Amino acid sequence: MSSLHPTGSTSTRSIAFVSLALALALVMAFVMAAWWAVDKIDTRELLNERQSIAAGLVARKNRIAQEQDSSAVGDDAVVNLRANNQPWIARNLADWMSQFFSHDRVYVLAPDDRVVRAAEAGEQIPSIIDLRDRAVVEPIIAKLREKLAVAANEGDASMAAPMGTGNTDTVRLPSNELAYVSVRPIVPSSGAVVQRPGEEFLVISVVALDGDVLGELGQQLGLPDLRIGGPGKGKGALPVVNNAGRTMGFAVWTPKKPALVLMQETAPATLGLLLVGGLSLFGFLMWLRRTMSALEKSQAQIEYLAFHDPLTGVANRALFDVRLRNALHYEYLAKAKVALVSIDLDTFKEINDSLGHGAGDELIKQVAKRLSSRLPEGATLTRLGGDEFAVVQPGVVSEGHARFLCQTLLDTFHDPFLLAGEYVRVTASMGLALESGEAVSSTEIMRRADVALYAVKAAGRDGFRCYEQSMDQSRRDKRTLEIDLRNALVTNSGLHLLYQPIFDAVSSAIVGAEALVRWEHPTRGNLTPDLFISVAEEQGVIERLGLWVLNEACRFAANSALPWVAVNVSPLQFNNAHFAQSVLDVLRAQNLPPHRLQIEITEGLLLQNSPVVRASLESLRANGIAIALDDFGTGYSSIGYLRNHSIDKLKIDRSFTQLIGRDKATETIVQSVVEMAEALGMTVTAEGVEDDLQRHTLVKLGCATLQGYLLSRPIAGERLEDLLASDLAGASMRKQPALR
Ligand code: C2E
Ligand code: CA
Ligand code: CA
Repeated sequence: MSSLHPTGSTSTRSIAFVSLALALALVMAFVMAAWWAVDKIDTRELLNERQSIAAGLVARKNRIAQEQDSSAVGDDAVVNLRANNQPWIARNLADWMSQFFSHDRVYVLAPDDRVVRAAEAGEQIPSIIDLRDRAVVEPIIAKLREKLAVAANEGDASMAAPMGTGNTDTVRLPSNELAYVSVRPIVPSSGAVVQRPGEEFLVISVVALDGDVLGELGQQLGLPDLRIGGPGKGKGALPVVNNAGRTMGFAVWTPKKPALVLMQETAPATLGLLLVGGLSLFGFLMWLRRTMSALEKSQAQIEYLAFHDPLTGVANRALFDVRLRNALHYEYLAKAKVALVSIDLDTFKEINDSLGHGAGDELIKQVAKRLSSRLPEGATLTRLGGDEFAVVQPGVVSEGHARFLCQTLLDTFHDPFLLAGEYVRVTASMGLALESGEAVSSTEIMRRADVALYAVKAAGRDGFRCYEQSMDQSRRDKRTLEIDLRNALVTNSGLHLLYQPIFDAVSSAIVGAEALVRWEHPTRGNLTPDLFISVAEEQGVIERLGLWVLNEACRFAANSALPWVAVNVSPLQFNNAHFAQSVLDVLRAQNLPPHRLQIEITEGLLLQNSPVVRASLESLRANGIAIALDDFGTGYSSIGYLRNHSIDKLKIDRSFTQLIGRDKATETIVQSVVEMAEALGMTVTAEGVEDDLQRHTLVKLGCATLQGYLLSRPIAGERLEDLLASDLAGASMRKQPALR
């Protein structure tokens, strides 16, 4: 059996986990991407900052010489210096320059390097080169003098040579400060003043980087803490090199990192958004999962319903057809056979009628469960409808194998079923068809299994049989017989009744007779009811036949001296709720008083426990028709239903009678049946009395009436009338029955 059940909640839990992980991963990815972008932007910004600082420093360094030249080039500068005009020097050179251009210190040197004037922050300072500066300044001065000398030696004595010559470098002062030092010669601006090589006055500016230079630059660039210092983590650093390329120190600052700042400022809002986004994503994924699993579930449900019987959960006809066709096709290729078992419960209708539909459903469910539990690998069980099941098993190699399968399935019915609080024995009939796919279609194999099932039913149910070709023949025969029977009823030819008299056990007088149908078949000769009643029942002719018998028996009784006539009625006739009415109609039509008719029913009818049957029986009795229970002792023989249904008469079955005089236990049973019947107000007839021992014993046991070959075989109506006449005449011919 296939199961299409949807998967459980573990996958839902793992999907929840995956959704959460996915949402988290997305948030993480976003944060990482943002971080990467911030880092990229800020690194570029740091490079910008370095370049700007570098450019700013170079510009500042270059500007020093220009600033110096604004005063150092001019005829009056040379004249006033030669004249050592200190006030002029202060106003136009040293003091002024230190103040106006913010050169930290300005020195004016005579051609012999004597300091003419020194100034700091617009004020004159003692006129020696400051100790702070001497060590680093002197080499620069020396280098400039050398340059001037070289220019002079090359023969260029013009003013142009010293003009524009200067020496600027980056130094570390003895005070450990970094500073630019710029030395320029003071040159006349025209030919009016002559200055020979070696006669140059010099102006020297010392500009410390820390303080004004970096402070101003930092302010311009928005880097307020730009200064000279040691490089450190998280800081921007730019090496400051001298003209020789030696690193003299570092300009350091705190980088602006605008992206990081921006991110920090917007972080709470962004995180909030991300959280909301992540949660929404998670929620969306969960909703998607729920919707999808609901969809999957309903899809699976629809598929399941499309291919399974809702009551039992086993495969339905559609799925079974597919499996059967596949099996036939596959086994055709594999050269093995397919076994098909058609299963039908024997007493389903009775259980449904007596215990209710709930119990009927319960029985079907239990049967399906039991059959499923014993199903071999690869086999499929289906419920075809009602109480009909079928099993298909591919890959069957022998008939023994298939028979074993049937026996296994049949064994599941061994234990009683618990239905509506009662233990009920249920039997089943099974038909087996074992075919190869090459030989038959799926419809044909189904038909064959049904034919075999039918044969089991006809043979008394509760068993299994394998399909044989001859079964088809017997079915065809039955169909022919049915047609012939219908024909006989329509033409009213061939059918007739015999009457078997029933005698008073003590006086041996005929008290009544049982009508027994016979059929003079056009080709098959005289047929006993055993050969055609069951066919009439199976083929739906029994109602018409029964009505014919009833009419015939009543007509005979009405026109004879027979005290009453007993007519056998098939349980199927009671399916018609109008049965009692039709009996009354016949009585009226034939003008027979109701007390002269008895109806013989069987135990099976009472077992149905159907309200329709009960109502019909009550109606018949209420109208004066006696009810006899036929074949008593062969069925369930329960006193329960005898008490529940009002019965007038018991007919002890022939199988008991045969043991009378031979088996003490049977006699005891018969005796207790007689006593029970008496207690319930019923009379007892013994059927099948064949010898005197039986007859004497039965009389002794208290049976009121007797029926059997010893007393009379079933005879034609005219013979019975003769018998009745002689009976009336007082003859004791039944002691020497001539009709044996
Ligand atoms: P049944 O109702 O039990 O009828 C008694 C059967 O036992 C008759 O067989 C009768 O011939 C046979 N019989 C009577 N005495 C003896 C005896 O001493 N020894 C033996 N061995 N047999 C004896 P028959 O007539 O062949 O009927 C067979 C069954 O067919 C009947 O059994 C009854 O169930 C059914 N049947 C007969 N006529 C009708 C009918 O008109 N309608 C229906 N529905 N069933 C009928
Ligand atoms: Ca009978
Ligand atoms: Ca009988």
